[in-house]
Amino acid sequence: MQKVFFSEEFWLYNRRISRRMNEESRGISMKEYPVTKNEEITTEIIDLSHEGMGIAKVDHYLLFIDNALPGETVRAKVLKVGPKFGFAKVMEYLTTSDDRQDVADKNLLITGIAPLAHMSYESQLLFKQNQVSNVMKKIAKLPEVPVLPTLGMANPTHYRNKAQIPVRKIAGKLETGFFRKNSHDLIPIDDFYIQDAAIDAAIPIIRDILERFGVKAYNETAHEGFLRHIIIRRGHYSHEMMVVLVTRKAKFFKSKEIANVIHEELPEVVSVIQNINEERTNVILGKQEVVLYGKGYIEDQLLGKTFQISAPSFYQVNTQQAELLYQTAFDFAQLAPTDVVIDAYSGIGTIGLSLADKVEHVYGVESIPEAVEDAKKNVQINGIENTTYLVGKAEKLMTQWSREGLKPNVIFVDPPRKGLDARFIEAAAETAPERIVYISCNPATLARDAKLFAELGYKTEKIQPVDLFPQTYHIECVGLLTRVEH
Ligand code: SAH
Repeated sequence: MQKVFFSEEFWLYNRRISRRMNEESRGISMKEYPVTKNEEITTEIIDLSHEGMGIAKVDHYLLFIDNALPGETVRAKVLKVGPKFGFAKVMEYLTTSDDRQDVADKNLLITGIAPLAHMSYESQLLFKQNQVSNVMKKIAKLPEVPVLPTLGMANPTHYRNKAQIPVRKIAGKLETGFFRKNSHDLIPIDDFYIQDAAIDAAIPIIRDILERFGVKAYNETAHEGFLRHIIIRRGHYSHEMMVVLVTRKAKFFKSKEIANVIHEELPEVVSVIQNINEERTNVILGKQEVVLYGKGYIEDQLLGKTFQISAPSFYQVNTQQAELLYQTAFDFAQLAPTDVVIDAYSGIGTIGLSLADKVEHVYGVESIPEAVEDAKKNVQINGIENTTYLVGKAEKLMTQWSREGLKPNVIFVDPPRKGLDARFIEAAAETAPERIVYISCNPATLARDAKLFAELGYKTEKIQPVDLFPQTYHIECVGLLTRVEH
């Protein structure tokens, strides 16, 4: 069968035509927008979007403006006019906010590494608390739920224990940095500001070793070349380093020699892994892995326990704040020695294993097999005997546990951004735990799920935001839900 390809321009053109037709059929013409492309306007910033962009309003039409804070008056140039809202760029600040702080390297804002770096840390923490309050009012329709002040860091920079760095060819050489926002243009960067300084120092060393061995950079447009990403993880306490080289093909000339040189030049490196990703995709990791040097994982400590972490396993990127997050979750849970606990979306078992000493039994479920292997190994490393960790979808396992008559006292959930599956929520409520401790990296889905839990007799008592991602708009929080007596 013959394949038909449409070019991207053609697709965009089609979309534009159909949008215009829609607008015309609704009686709106392009001319009626209060601003036009390339027009310069003077406007006041009235709010911040959830991505930290300034919002201005021109006759009820919303404009999103980068690097602009509420209260500031700016002269801005309109970049894009869409049917519902547009985008503009600051040309001049006529007044500036007291919440503004200097950003030494503008690339941090342009690339989206640190999109809130222009806000004082205090106002970042307040911004996050307000975001959570807003979704609890607007999405959950639970305006009465207390949202506590965000717990921040004393030093909110250089905290990330993991870096995922794209590699491209610039001026004939391997270059590392970060993509410009909404694009895949690489902007060279040395100081990533929010990453562990030892990781920042390691990136050019690894890149230059690869350059010496003649390794070619990946070319995304042509889907040619070889090295796509360098990923580095470094244990906050252990200082053990893992280097993952993501390649487009399996065949890797002199790979073992390269890995040995990486270890020689960076003695903290205990693991070098080749990850093969042959697909045309934005997903960074492929499925196939080859250990080129050392072991296939690193170890680190968290709340006094030791954890093995493999390349595909999730591990919180801010170790110090993750400890505070889990401690907050345990305080909310009020655990008793007779408690049966579920650790859903368990990753490598960080939550369940940290609290196993305090309870009768922990049941964990996680969908990534490598992470569950890590969790089982971590059970052994820490000499723990009262846990059961299973591979599977949390919604399936929870339904099964419910059917089998498991009666947990406390359920911890820690889902990805999309939140909980409705089947999980129903099955969890059926097992009637006294408390549900909900750890969330997306307040919008936390709010949606809190509403569903409310319908099933669970009251959200309070929400504690904990700042795991300073200088960025990402928000982590812990919610405590308790069963209302019938
Ligand atoms: N609690 C862990 C991991 C949290 S991240 C920690 O604090 O480190 C969320 C985890 O949920 C990831 O490990 C991801 O692989 C897993 N996951 C995603 N969808 C899932 C599903 N439907 N069922 C079970 N686990 C899932």
